[in-house]
Amino acid sequence: MIISVASGKGGTGKTLVATSLALSLKDSHKVTLLDCDVEEPNAHVFLKPAITSSEPVLIPVPKIDEEKCTRCGKCAEVCAYNAIAVLGEHVLTFPQLCHGCGACSYLCPEKAISEEPRETGVVEMGQADGLEFIHGKLTVGEAMAPPIIRRVKQQDNNEGTVIIDIPPGTSCPVVEAVKGSDFCLLVTEPTPFGLNDLILAVETMRELDIPCGVVLNRAGVGDAKVEEYCLKENIPVLLTIPLDTEIARLYSKGIPLVEGMPQWKDSFGQLFESIEEIVDERNRSLKR
Ligand code: SF4
Ligand code: SF4
Repeated sequence: MIISVASGKGGTGKTLVATSLALSLKDSHKVTLLDCDVEEPNAHVFLKPAITSSEPVLIPVPKIDEEKCTRCGKCAEVCAYNAIAVLGEHVLTFPQLCHGCGACSYLCPEKAISEEPRETGVVEMGQADGLEFIHGKLTVGEAMAPPIIRRVKQQDNNEGTVIIDIPPGTSCPVVEAVKGSDFCLLVTEPTPFGLNDLILAVETMRELDIPCGVVLNRAGVGDAKVEEYCLKENIPVLLTIPLDTEIARLYSKGIPLVEGMPQWKDSFGQLFESIEEIVDERNRSLKR
C-alpha cells in the first residue's frame, strides 16, 4: 500500500499528517516514510532519523568536443529544455536546465557530444523510531527535482506500507512523486486559497487516476466551502484537525502530533482503515 500525502500549496500541514500517520502505524505495520519534498524536506525535523547511508544523485550533461563539432545546430534543435545553444562559432550548454535525456549526444551527427555526470542532490537513508526513512535533498540553486524524487522512490523496497510526503503544488515534481500510489491524501485548509489549490490538486489526481480523500487542517478558520466542494465532488473528508494553539506549538517545536498529543493516534489509525477500505473497494470494482 502506497499512500501519498499532498497539498495544492505549501504550509497546509502535509508533513504533520504524513509523519503522524507513519508513527501511528509503526507498531502494527512495517512502515517506510519517503520524503519526496526534495526542495524543502522537513519530515526529518519531526522523525529525527539516524541516517545510515547516503548517495549523490548525478545526471549526465553534455560536453562538447569543439574539434569535432561543425556547429550544425542539431543539438540545440532537439533539446526540448533550451539547455544547449549554438551561437556563431560557439556551442553553449546550460547544465542547470539539462534534464539528462541524452537526445543531443545521441543525435549529434559528428559524435561530438559526450556526457559527464553532474551532482544535483543527495538521497539519505536511515531509521527513525521503528520506521524506515528515506529522503532526498536538492542542492540549493538546482532546479531539477524529478531525478532526486525518482532516486528516493527507487531506494524503497516496496514492502509494507509506504507513506510519501509529496512536494506542494501540481507541477512535474508532484506528478513524479505521486505516480504509482494507491491513494492520495490531500491536505487543505478551509479558506478560499485552500479551496482553490485543492481543486487543482483533485484535478491532477483524477488525471493520474489516483483515488483521493481530504484531510481538513486548521478547521475553524474560514468557511464551509471546502466541505461543500468535497460533498459535491464525492471526495471523502477523512480527517479534520482543528485550529489549535497546542497543535501549532508542537509543530513549531518539531514534535509529531501523535507524540505530543497521543490521543490523536486513534484518529490516524482510523484514517488508515478508511483508506484501506477505499483502496480495497476500488481494487474489487476494477476486477469485476
Ligand atoms: S549537433 Fe554536434 S556537431 Fe552539431 S552543433 Fe551540436 S555538437 Fe556540434
Ligand atoms: S541531455 Fe537532453 S536536456 Fe540535456 S542538453 Fe542534451 S538534449 Fe538537452
